[in-house]
Amino acid sequence: MKLVVATHNPHKVEELGRILEPLLPGIELVSFDGPEPVEDGATFEANALIKARAAYEHTGLPAIADDSGIAADALGGEPGIRSARYAGTGNDRDNLELLLQNLQGVTDRTAQFLCAAAYVDGETELVEMGVWPGAVLTSARGEGGFGYDPIFQPAGETRSSAELSAAEKDALSHRRRAFTALAEAVGRSR
Ligand code: IMP
Repeated sequence: MKLVVATHNPHKVEELGRILEPLLPGIELVSFDGPEPVEDGATFEANALIKARAAYEHTGLPAIADDSGIAADALGGEPGIRSARYAGTGNDRDNLELLLQNLQGVTDRTAQFLCAAAYVDGETELVEMGVWPGAVLTSARGEGGFGYDPIFQPAGETRSSAELSAAEKDALSHRRRAFTALAEAVGRSR
């Protein structure tokens, strides 16, 4: 089965391949390089479905997509679906600095990385959430990962997620959890 991944990012295709191939034997992931839809949904689930539908409609092939971000409890779940554009500059470091600034002096540091994973094939639409619980550190640590990883400490860890190896992060992440649940849902729907 050929599955289109609605992303321009080759790293995401590789990461999803590592997660999905053992769960859906025989699948072949291909990346989608068509136009990007407007992500104007009010939730992670809605935005993941918008991206998966656009890829399905463009290619006619079953498509998967994700939408992800970080939600701080003390900020009522912000930045949430606005994670990628929080600071308004399109720069990951600015987003991270703004989150640190907005949590300055705040004692409740609890936060989650969240990921919605969607599957669309014209007959079936499925969407599953993955949650990676943790806390926002008071300063950035580590060189790995991307985005908010240097300021996220997974629950039960002493390191930030930027200090985990790629394999360690792969095994724990919100994306792993969402796509594992999605693969199970796709398996059940067939
Ligand atoms: P998306 O690509 O539209 O899903 O936006 C994801 C946003 O959330 C980006 O700005 C990332 O910085 C942030 N994000 C999502 N997943 C992670 C992660 O695993 N580590 C760090 N930041 C993440």
